[in-house]
Amino acid sequence: MMIKRVEVRERFMARLSKDSDLLEEITDICRKHGVTLGRVEALGAVQKACFSYYDQTTHEYKPVSVDKPLEILKLTGNITLRDNVPFVHAHVTLGDAQGRAYGGHLAPGTIIFACECFIEAFDGPALTRELDPATDLFLWRTGE
Ligand code: ZN
Repeated sequence: MMIKRVEVRERFMARLSKDSDLLEEITDICRKHGVTLGRVEALGAVQKACFSYYDQTTHEYKPVSVDKPLEILKLTGNITLRDNVPFVHAHVTLGDAQGRAYGGHLAPGTIIFACECFIEAFDGPALTRELDPATDLFLWRTGE
């Protein structure tokens, strides 16, 4: 286990641009405003979605695409450093016209219809990602 104490430094509220890539827009805000440690939350709607599911047996991400308008019921994620640049790790729950839910690890290719986003930037020791051999995932480094 690894625990770090953080303090909120700044909060941002952003309306993201229609027709832009959801993950790219959030990452852009973090890079432009120097958010290297923080959390993100958003709601809104997308025109289509790309996310993935991590298979714990094969250690591979299985891509999922849903090519229809969906509501962002909840996007939640964190911002840390990977290769010395802000890296957004976000999961989304999306809903369709019949009330069905989809979701997973947010991937590039999810196109915004409308999105309201909250970002909290933290002050605290840097958190970087490194390859964890047990899971084959780039997880937060524990030895700092
Ligand atoms: Zn994930």
